[in-house]
Amino acid sequence: MTTYSFPAPDQPDLPIAGSGDRFPVRRIFCVGRNYEAHAAEMGNTVDRAAPFYFTKSAHAILHSGQNMTYPQGTSDLHHEIELVVAIGPSVGLTDAPAGEVEIFGYAVGLDMTRRDLQGAAKDGRKPWDTGKDFEQSAIIGAITPAADTLLDAAQIRLDVNGEKRQSAPLSDMVHTVAEIIANLSTLYHLRSGDLIMTGTPAGVGAVQVGDVLTGSIDGLEAVKTTIVA
Ligand code: MN
Repeated sequence: MTTYSFPAPDQPDLPIAGSGDRFPVRRIFCVGRNYEAHAAEMGNTVDRAAPFYFTKSAHAILHSGQNMTYPQGTSDLHHEIELVVAIGPSVGLTDAPAGEVEIFGYAVGLDMTRRDLQGAAKDGRKPWDTGKDFEQSAIIGAITPAADTLLDAAQIRLDVNGEKRQSAPLSDMVHTVAEIIANLSTLYHLRSGDLIMTGTPAGVGAVQVGDVLTGSIDGLEAVKTTIVA
């Protein structure tokens, strides 16, 4: 048996709707500029040829219902509401071909962003890590098994203090879930436990201490957090 010099870190996980089991999280891939109106509000255009990605540590996860502590190093913390795809062995499917990527389910997530640090990184042609990958920056709700989910006509929405800030049909996504998985699979070997945050619609903006964020996608469990000092 391996003996560690200090206790090993906890395995990050997410609840699964309708189940007592937990979903163990492996990696978090995030898609940039996947809604045309959001790309435009940031002064960018979308690349229809292929998605691009950044990543977050699995240890950046905060569970829905927990408070987010306003992070250090920023004075411009932004919300980005996103559809999250969870990769895993298909629910009820025991004969999936080896190596085939299966969607385990879907969740609603917040890609919290230190926009000032991301902006400085863009200006300096530097990586986005400090703007995107920090503690509690991936706030994700319960995963709904794919077999229960009808996503085609679903709306994604974020309210801050009960007021609508972001809203769009998922059909506005430039690259579909299937296209993202196909493209990501040319770059990584996707495995059970991987998550994909699929980009945010227009309406991103700053949040302050005391704000209550509630994100939803039709058919999925909501994500909720309060920003605290
Ligand atoms: Mn995002």
